Amino acid sequence: MLRIQGLTKTYSNGETALKGVSVSVGAGEIIGLIGPSGAGKSTLIRCVNRLIEPSAGSVQLGAVELTGLTGGALRRQRRQIGMIFQEYALIERLTVMENVLAGRLGYTGFWRSWFRRFAQVDIDRAIALLERVGLIEHIDKRADALSGGQRQRVGIARALIQQPKLLLVDEPTASLDPKTSRSVMRLLTELCIESRLAAIVNIHDVALAQAFLPRIVGLNAGTVVYDGPSSGLSADVLTSIYGEEDWARTAAGGVGGDDDEEPEIFARLESAQ
Ligand code: ADP
Repeated sequence: MLRIQGLTKTYSNGETALKGVSVSVGAGEIIGLIGPSGAGKSTLIRCVNRLIEPSAGSVQLGAVELTGLTGGALRRQRRQIGMIFQEYALIERLTVMENVLAGRLGYTGFWRSWFRRFAQVDIDRAIALLERVGLIEHIDKRADALSGGQRQRVGIARALIQQPKLLLVDEPTASLDPKTSRSVMRLLTELCIESRLAAIVNIHDVALAQAFLPRIVGLNAGTVVYDGPSSGLSADVLTSIYGEEDWARTAAGGVGGDDDEEPEIFARLESAQ
């Protein structure tokens, strides 16, 4: 689905943030992107959605090469990529429903959306999505009246209404408490399987990544230093990604917790591929 090859980014100040990164993500596959601050995680995500221009290398979504696209061709491809942000990026004074429908902006055109004229098919889809993410009772609430977890669920529904092939998720749980973080991660992994989406999740919480994401890519100084199962994140591997620290507890135990549904999620992810 997504094939990144030899991706390199040197910023205009001479800083090389990515040094020949190659990663492939299949349909229905969700990978965790981890690494210390400054490793190049945001740069990688921004090169994929072309918010920044890579210096070299290739990013293919399906059969389409994204690097070098401009204008209408770039806009068309961007519709295939859903973004989910740490701070949700909701429009506070609009309702839950309107925020989800705002995800159709790329299709309906700005002015039609502004006047809130949406096709019935979009409205039906928004309702179905809000049911799926557990927000149907809150459909008419304003975004600023929601909890953090509810806001992130709106963000997820808004990304999915454009029916993307790929989801780019930037620290989805950074502002959430541990329990809500787990339910948001669970929802994300389930939705990727259901909709056969490829997803890259930039995640700073290693234990949470281990609990929910079967495959991890570790970046350090712009280079992939690990690409493998999250069960392989040993203390040595974590040291190669993050540097010296006492990793023994994280590597051995993950987040713990008393439910045992993660292995089932892993099995579903594997069978979906
Ligand atoms: P991460 O998301 O892993 O924290 P980033 O992709 O933000 O890492 O940054 C990778 C490297 O690129 C860092 O050294 C950072 O200082 C540098 N960098 C990021 N954005 C810019 C920019 N716009 N101009 C110059 N250097 C940048």
